[in-house]
Amino acid sequence: MKYITLLGATGSIGSSVLDIILRHPQQYSAYALTANTNAEHMANLCRQFRPKYAVMADTGSAEKLKTLLGYESTWVLSGEDALSEVSCSADVDIVVAAIVGAAGLMPTLSAVRSGKRILLANKEALVMAGALFMDEVYTHSAELLPVDSEHNAMFQCMPANYTVGSRPEGVTQILLTGSGGPFREIPLSDFDQVTPEQAKTHPNWNMGPKISVDSATMMNKGLELIEACRLFDIDDSDVNIVLHKQSIIHSLVAYNDGSVLAQMGNPDMRTPIANALAWPDRIESGVEPLDLIRVSQLNFELADEDRFPCLRLAREAYRQGGTSTAILNAANEVAVENFLAERIKFTEIPVLIEKTLENIDSCVADDLEIIIDADRKARFYVESQLNA
Ligand code: NAD
Ligand code: MG
Repeated sequence: MKYITLLGATGSIGSSVLDIILRHPQQYSAYALTANTNAEHMANLCRQFRPKYAVMADTGSAEKLKTLLGYESTWVLSGEDALSEVSCSADVDIVVAAIVGAAGLMPTLSAVRSGKRILLANKEALVMAGALFMDEVYTHSAELLPVDSEHNAMFQCMPANYTVGSRPEGVTQILLTGSGGPFREIPLSDFDQVTPEQAKTHPNWNMGPKISVDSATMMNKGLELIEACRLFDIDDSDVNIVLHKQSIIHSLVAYNDGSVLAQMGNPDMRTPIANALAWPDRIESGVEPLDLIRVSQLNFELADEDRFPCLRLAREAYRQGGTSTAILNAANEVAVENFLAERIKFTEIPVLIEKTLENIDSCVADDLEIIIDADRKARFYVESQLNA
């Protein structure tokens, strides 16, 4: 039996992970489930999965959960330290990092530092902490496995016995695919009028609100570019972004002998999650088999950086190095929150991020405190621009 801490159990990735646990009750068991504020949802999950611990990041929500659960068998904890504690416990085999945003960094690092198998969905943590994150993975011999569908596809196409973090032998290029989001084809002049509801409606994937907006601005692809460079130790100039509107090929890896390997499947996160949970074995995931005749066509296009300035900003931040990617990520998180709350327009998201990158100095990111400080400064800067 493998015991799992699921960070972000009430989210979209969390639900897919729990679906797979239910399909394999002899192999996987929930040790700890965590969430931010949704006590009702968590109470239902506790009744169904009977974890040893339930952690609510928000203290008031933990109190509510205790009341809802009464004398049931789960211990309720709260706060960021508790998230980190359930991620490093000696009783845990696998930690699924599925909190959205920078809030996931500390508990994910806690799992890394205790040498766990980590299923990484929380790309923001890796983008933010960058080289430091990967150094910790190496130092503590953690087993990092990507769950982001593209990176899981790349991982599946890597050479035999490949270890995440090392440079893959014979690989000349990574082709990072993306659907282009809901606004791939609308006229640029209409971008001003885009509503949160439209931005949250992704054509192929059903995801949480923040990553859905990131997909619409294509910041998601920008973050994924940085994620690929970190995970596979490859130059950003060797990662090409390819628009593929069907979301059937999840990414490709090109080799020096001319081979190009692709991983395909229906767009359902249970495939990459099952792959990473059971790796190197394979387990049933509940995903519908791919019917290529029904799909009938696979199309590919170049990604347009004029249409999607967030792509350019992410690449520039990565090239700048240091704390730039932490600044990029923090500015994006605050901008997206404000767009979702209808306080700014869709087109203001990249403008705010670019201004933040211009105004907050990047410095060497060799210390966690420095990274957290850059994150804080960037958030403060965006808020000050909004209140000006
Ligand atoms: P979501 O919004 O559906 O869920 C987020 C989860 O994080 C919830 O359980 C929430 O309670 C928790 N959370 C939010 N803020 C928190 C805080 N401050 N402290 C502690 N917990 C907090 O998001 P999602 O779509 O499941 O995405 C989760 C992560 O996975 C993101 O980093 C996203 O980029 C990545 N990801 C998601 C998908 C997808 O299909 N949804 C695909 C690839 C990668
Ligand atoms: Mg992805």
